[in-house]
Amino acid sequence: MKIHLKKGAGKEAGRALRRSLAAALPGCRFLAFPGGLEVRPPSPERAADFAPRVENMPGVARVSFSDEELCPLACARGGKLFSRPLDFSGGRKVFIAGPCAVEDEKLYLASAVALKAAGAHALRAALFKPRSSPYAFQGIGWPGLGIIARAKKLTGLPLVTEATDTRQVQRLAAVCDVLQVGARNMRNYELLKETARSGRTVLLKRGMRATLREWLLSAEYLLRHGARKLILCERGDALNLPGAPLLDLALMAAARKATGLPVLADPSHASRDREIAAALAAKALKAGADGLLIEASLDPARARVDGRQTVTVETFGALAGKFRCKPRG
Ligand code: PEP
Ligand code: MN
Repeated sequence: MKIHLKKGAGKEAGRALRRSLAAALPGCRFLAFPGGLEVRPPSPERAADFAPRVENMPGVARVSFSDEELCPLACARGGKLFSRPLDFSGGRKVFIAGPCAVEDEKLYLASAVALKAAGAHALRAALFKPRSSPYAFQGIGWPGLGIIARAKKLTGLPLVTEATDTRQVQRLAAVCDVLQVGARNMRNYELLKETARSGRTVLLKRGMRATLREWLLSAEYLLRHGARKLILCERGDALNLPGAPLLDLALMAAARKATGLPVLADPSHASRDREIAAALAAKALKAGADGLLIEASLDPARARVDGRQTVTVETFGALAGKFRCKPRG
């Protein structure tokens, strides 16, 4: 924790600060730097809880933290504290594919089989959809649980599904292998805790316009509350501005570097257009993405949601064929 002092705060303000901190955080170490004081508490998580009081002390301009101080588990760079989750593809790029939502059973099962043949390692299996409009299709919900269970039996592929509410977590975890926390819920801390407690692998999307720090903090929630297998996924900021990048590739690389976790790209929600999605997917994979979460089905034209951005199985197969043998690096 770095405490930046106000200009002209004076030596006495610095000394008073040291005295209060030493009393409040016994065992902390101090290192002076020009314009402030670095404080190293015996356990780093104490600092986040203590910062609001420090900010309020006389002479203090602001308090800052490194990612490692705020997110000690997320920044432990894997291995040590939690295992890498994408072992089902043997260290290669990972492809999670399927329609935006599970809808018609026959089409879903046929798509699942075709996607497996085209190179998918896991299936999108969304029953609950977080929609921006309350009038839009919200997913088929629990009646779909049997459908996705049958898809898993038929293909042997792991299922990736999104829980939009804490009350869905345990029941979905009983059937699905990976629980997705969607962009809108990246900051839903109770959902993060409950999802972590399920013991399942968690796929954490970056919230729209969330900073790296916010993303890491949400990952920290998951790890702090029991998740041991974690995948990050970048889906863009939905800015819809001409020329704005659709996926933040630099941020993906920074997240990968900070955490050592696998980082997937979701070109579908980033582009909202199947042709752009295919090109964006290739760009993200070339830029070092560990794999894709991509909307794909046998009949995108029939989808009630996101059909326009859903690629065909042929397009998916071409992408997977080109990149599947590439090591994740
Ligand atoms: C999804 O992947 O199904 C989804 C809803 O995406 P996002 O949370 O990124 O909008
Ligand atoms: Mn979708």
